[in-house]
Amino acid sequence: MESFASSLSKLTGESTLLYQEIARKVEKTKGIKTINFGIGQPDLPTPQRIRDEAKVALEKGYTAYTPALGLDELRSKIAEFLSQKYGDKIIKDEIAVTPGAKTALFLAFLAYVNPGDEVILFDPSFYSYAEVVKLLGGKPVYVPLHFDQGKGFYYVTDELSSKISPKTKMIVYNNPHNPTGMTFDADLSKTVAEISQERKIVLISDEIYDYFVFDKNFWSVLQTPSWRDNVIYINGFSKTFSMTGWRLGYIVARKEVIGKMGILASNIYTCPTSFAQYGALASFDSFAQVKEMIDLFRRRRDVMYNELSGVKGIKVYKSSGAFYMFPDFSEVLGAGGMDSKSLAVKLIEEAGVVTIPGEVFPERVGKNFLRLSFALGEEKIKEGVSRMKLFVEKVLSS
Ligand code: PMP
Repeated sequence: MESFASSLSKLTGESTLLYQEIARKVEKTKGIKTINFGIGQPDLPTPQRIRDEAKVALEKGYTAYTPALGLDELRSKIAEFLSQKYGDKIIKDEIAVTPGAKTALFLAFLAYVNPGDEVILFDPSFYSYAEVVKLLGGKPVYVPLHFDQGKGFYYVTDELSSKISPKTKMIVYNNPHNPTGMTFDADLSKTVAEISQERKIVLISDEIYDYFVFDKNFWSVLQTPSWRDNVIYINGFSKTFSMTGWRLGYIVARKEVIGKMGILASNIYTCPTSFAQYGALASFDSFAQVKEMIDLFRRRRDVMYNELSGVKGIKVYKSSGAFYMFPDFSEVLGAGGMDSKSLAVKLIEEAGVVTIPGEVFPERVGKNFLRLSFALGEEKIKEGVSRMKLFVEKVLSS
């Protein structure tokens, strides 16, 4: 028998997919149609211009390897776009195009994490940060997010500072935030940028949901004048342009860091897909569609919030970013003697509603919460919440 690398045993895979799997089984065996609040991607097609440009590239035969860091034209466009947006002169050599933001994150961890290094993550957070840190022999150290029904989710500066040790190599910040749907206040973003810089810690800033901001101001870590000292900025095309399957993300960092990413890229995947990159060149002309999509998502967010507010037994904050709502179900969990995982399974089996249990993100703070995505039609949102309401009423009265 072959023996797998021991680091592999530290990975669990994407547990969010497990709940989709359970839903498929329930649909088959019980013959019911589930409502899916478990989705992590926009439900709209990629804007037409982007699809057209990718087709043109295929027809023209632009199907060979591109440079490891991506097409020069695309890197320059991204640099120009961000320079205009954030008022700094960002250059092509400070950009790496990658096969998805997930790969961008992977390269960033790979470039810095040595066995034994500590990486500060917020709890809850996107599950894959902790997985990759562990794969590389690093240790995730968690800073809890606190929940207040009026204010939403926030971290406490002293708690962040107290987690920093001589072994701290990186802090990972994600804003707007998956899974809470929080767009953090600018002062929290500025503080994490300041602390990481003062303490000479690399800051990964994952801003993949930066267009999904509803009624707050968004402050990017790239607005820190000295970001080149320590910031690895991550973004991508997946969410903003509904391009999850195209696999295109990017990194912004100082030139020397991008050079290292190029070495890793050429050894791991050679380059991002050629014709997908040609398509992405047209994305910068597609912001009218993005605006329409965000307006649609804002209305969906309002519908989900209004419906959930009418459910006794759960506490919900009106999400200000991404496309997630993260309500607190502690009362329901207490009444039903369940944890968030068993609640999510029961909701599929007994109410026909798919959610993602908060504790898969990936530590303890999420244990009283469920993540609900509002990337689906308003009627389905209403139907799904009304099914949940019936279920919750039954649990609370039992
Ligand atoms: N970061 C966060 C916070 C995400 O939620 C996701 C996707 N769910 C990613 C990164 C990965 O995005 P991509 O599809 O570009 O790999």
